[in-house]
Amino acid sequence: MLKNSIIRNGLLFFALLISATLPAQTKKLNTIIVDAGHGGTDVGAVGQYEGSLKAREKDITLAISNKLVAELRKQLPDVKVVPTRTTDIYQDPKTKAKIANDNKGDLFISIHADAVNLKTGKRQIGTKTVTKYKVTYTGKGKNRKKKSTPYKEEVPVYEYYKIPTTRKGTSVYLFAAHKTEDKIRSIKDGDIEDFEMHGHDDTTSTKIDFNSPEGRHIAQIYAKRYQEKSDLIATLVNEEVARVGREALGVYQRQVGIWVLQATNMPAILVETGFIANYEDERYLVSEKGQQELAEVITRAVIRYKNQLENPQQVPANK
Ligand SMILES: [Zn+2]
Repeated sequence: MLKNSIIRNGLLFFALLISATLPAQTKKLNTIIVDAGHGGTDVGAVGQYEGSLKAREKDITLAISNKLVAELRKQLPDVKVVPTRTTDIYQDPKTKAKIANDNKGDLFISIHADAVNLKTGKRQIGTKTVTKYKVTYTGKGKNRKKKSTPYKEEVPVYEYYKIPTTRKGTSVYLFAAHKTEDKIRSIKDGDIEDFEMHGHDDTTSTKIDFNSPEGRHIAQIYAKRYQEKSDLIATLVNEEVARVGREALGVYQRQVGIWVLQATNMPAILVETGFIANYEDERYLVSEKGQQELAEVITRAVIRYKNQLENPQQVPANK
């Protein structure tokens, strides 16, 4: 495995070296797909703790997504911004990925809100009087008799409630590296026209057979590139979140993978904007101010991402 990956990385480096010597493209971010997670009958997480506003994830993601689309269009007027949905409709992940792939997106941003399993609390809310019996016996042997004497006793009455989580803040997810096979599959299913490689010279762009060994190798390179770009945009989103004083929880890959991120033929991230199950975060997520702040934060990250892609020589190397 290790040897294999060394060889692969060597080939990858070589391929990247070749591509680096080709004339740089001026515009690499033409289309951004903004996905409001969940929708319709797929409600997503719901505020369930005691004192919750009972906010629904599908509403929060739609509100933030609509603001993000507006902000991106305002700040990047030359970029096409395609939302997966602008209303409360149900879409399965396949539909979302298809919209992204059909529109030949260069970047996929999925908006979600975090859910956690809540702990149940128990507290006394009063007392109640119950009748109990004191049992005594009289006599011996066959004459032994049982006698129950009733008496009243005050006992506590409890109620159970869901405790809000103390976790709050924004995290960013990428597709899991070990799920690269799925990403390669989405690349294979896609059209070579989707790839930035062809942009260097439209007239000589050739079709690549992604089922051939060479084609498979190229697909792996694309998956790796998507991984690097996804990591870059995720890191920038995390930085911009921290910049507004909000808890930036970092960049993660989920062990189980995130289907929509694997199935999109482009760099893709999922932003867990905040915790619906947290008292402050839930209020932040439903507020106009919070939603707008998140839209602006993500837009600033996208602008930095675009600048780094399109003017790599003007910015210091990332990491
Ligand atoms: Zn979600």
